[in-house]
Amino acid sequence: MRVAVLAVQGAFLEHEKMLDRLGVDYVELRKKEDLKQSYNGIILPGGESTVQGKLIRELGFYDTLKDQIQSGMPVLATCAGLILLAQKVENDDRSHFATLPVTVKRNAYGRQLGSFYKEDTFEGIGKIPMTFIRAPYITDIKEGVTILARDKEFITAVSYGNQLAMSFHPELDEDTRIHQQFVEMVEK
Ligand code: GLN
Repeated sequence: MRVAVLAVQGAFLEHEKMLDRLGVDYVELRKKEDLKQSYNGIILPGGESTVQGKLIRELGFYDTLKDQIQSGMPVLATCAGLILLAQKVENDDRSHFATLPVTVKRNAYGRQLGSFYKEDTFEGIGKIPMTFIRAPYITDIKEGVTILARDKEFITAVSYGNQLAMSFHPELDEDTRIHQQFVEMVEK
């Protein structure tokens, strides 16, 4: 088993550290040839979705990754990664992979409340640490999407088949349970 980590921008090293802790092999996707390696899951890290969206197109990643996600390869997406997956971005003219039938709002907490930490319930796991950094949240979901976490009335984590996405950063805290759950999806 091997996981591919999108490593063009943002917090990909932190995901790699999580995978190291879990003893999971991974490859970094930095250039087009990296897509030729064999892997069974994809991690889309946090960062800046506009920059990542531009780079995945310029580097020639877009079609291959979209096909892999659509054909069922497990994907874990955090923060900007969630924006890359969302079918609709409320306050942006651009969507990216658009494989996850949800609407997200970028920088949804505004500038003041941009970053915060809390512990809250994640469906199927329990209380986990949640670090939000200029986070989006989900404002609408379509049929088939399962809600996994909320922050008051806002949806902060969902799953949809092979796609597991959240607006916070589990890779920045010590708790490995989200990554563990993703690894179990990849193992199946
Ligand atoms: N604000 C970023 C965006 O809109 C996401 C922030 C993050 O990934 N921590 O792309």
